[in-house]
Amino acid sequence: SSSNMAQLINEAKAKDLIENVDTFLFDCDGVLWDGHGMIEGSLETLLKLKELGKKVFYVTNNSSKSRQHYLDRCKQLGFPAEKEEIVCTAYIAAAYLKKIQFEGTVYLIGKPDSLGEELSQVGIKYVGTGPDPLQGKLKDWLVMELDPEVKCVLVGFDPHISYMKIMKAATYLKNPNCLYLATNEDANLPAKGDVIVPGTGCMVVTVTHAAKRSPEIMGKPEAHMFEVLQQAHGLDPSRCLMVGDSLTTDMKFAKNCGMRSLLVLSGIATLEELNSKDAPSTPELYAPRLDELLKYI
Ligand code: PLP
Ligand code: CA
Repeated sequence: SSSNMAQLINEAKAKDLIENVDTFLFDCDGVLWDGHGMIEGSLETLLKLKELGKKVFYVTNNSSKSRQHYLDRCKQLGFPAEKEEIVCTAYIAAAYLKKIQFEGTVYLIGKPDSLGEELSQVGIKYVGTGPDPLQGKLKDWLVMELDPEVKCVLVGFDPHISYMKIMKAATYLKNPNCLYLATNEDANLPAKGDVIVPGTGCMVVTVTHAAKRSPEIMGKPEAHMFEVLQQAHGLDPSRCLMVGDSLTTDMKFAKNCGMRSLLVLSGIATLEELNSKDAPSTPELYAPRLDELLKYI
């Protein structure tokens, strides 16, 4: 029915947002920038919102970067970011383990300079990163060495994921007391042209399938990222707007957290997907690009 269809942003909608929203949460890739650089008008829109006194957060599922990486990236492009405004899944995974007072070592399928770095910052040890030292030599499976201190398997983006790593992760997960966390389940990363770029979800499903267990997801669409912000900044979700380019992660995240939502079509979602009868989620509003909002404010 028309009552649960997303509405194209217009002047009245934009004015309503400016009046009734205090906090804007921005997905990064596909909203502010993409693999080719800045998305036109996104910086100007964000600066205008700051000028109007709005709180702004950068909320990304990308686990291949630390908060510091994102800070540098924002600065490079001219976005006025502070570390407290950046919420990435590497940081959230570390914050989650700290919150539950995790004791033990993490078996990490992920990058040492992102997930590893954030774990180190909260004093948590990890093993498993880097290229597979066994290079797929079959007889070595039989002498796989397991670390008895491992009490958690954490899967994020890892360009070195391998058969041996999947085997180790699944074997650790045989112990029901071993936690299973994953940063996010994105199937693909947005890419221009004809290539398909597999996302972290592809790495997560392979471990999940072998272990026959489901991970706790740290990123969007689950609520952890919002809860961390809410704790630190006392946000009222009904006065927050999530801006994103994905129906399955960003728009569902908004719904799960009770936030308002704006889908932009400058990234992974298409108008066709938005209009399809089995769309994964229906946002309140949509716009071809973030700077559509700027026209009216
Ligand atoms: N995961 C990885 C590994 C990425 O490189 C990216 C984007 O660059 C994403 C996820 C998606 O990030 P976002 O949530 O900002 O769209
Ligand atoms: Ca995105």
